[in-house]
Amino acid sequence: MQVQTLTLPIGNIPGFVTNCYIIAADEDSRACVVIDPASRCDRIESALRGRVVEAIVMTHRHGDHIGALAQLAKNTGAPVYAHALDVEGLEDEKANGALALGLNIEIPAQITSVVDADIISIEGLNLTVLHTPGHTIGSICLHEEAQGVLFSGDTLFRDTYGRTDLPTGNPRQMRESLSKLALLPANTVVYPGHDQPTTIGRECNRR
Ligand SMILES: [Zn+2]
Ligand SMILES: [Zn+2]
Repeated sequence: MQVQTLTLPIGNIPGFVTNCYIIAADEDSRACVVIDPASRCDRIESALRGRVVEAIVMTHRHGDHIGALAQLAKNTGAPVYAHALDVEGLEDEKANGALALGLNIEIPAQITSVVDADIISIEGLNLTVLHTPGHTIGSICLHEEAQGVLFSGDTLFRDTYGRTDLPTGNPRQMRESLSKLALLPANTVVYPGHDQPTTIGRECNRR
């Protein structure tokens, strides 16, 4: 599996970057998935180097993860996937944080809702949707079980977890979601929405 990480700038906030992931089954595969096209559609598209985007997934509704979502969907024609409960709040500038972040976010014309245990597949990759509310009510993680890889959005970070004090956040749900993630194999590599990758084993020992 090939995981390409783009750290994309958010608005004019110094030092604020979000991880956007371009993933493919291997180096030679044509098909890829883009997770959290946070900003700078031009940078994402040039990083594709001829690959075909077959799916775009947002881990949750926040403006710092979806800045290039509509543009990328338009330019590639790829379907956009998000949890049903975060599609609901997506256009609300307060709920998506765009207002607080000073961002002007365009919402994609069409979004395909997913729920827990749905599988988003491209050639050679199967991403299982894990509904992990707590940071937002429709936050999801994507689990590539055969590869032992998890994309955790703003649910789980290296050494910490996502805020629960933003609209639709919920500390009790966050605890439940983290317990669910703790059941994954310890050697699962975790790619979060911000900062460095980690593993489930490393984070479990710290909680
Ligand atoms: Zn967030
Ligand atoms: Zn974020």
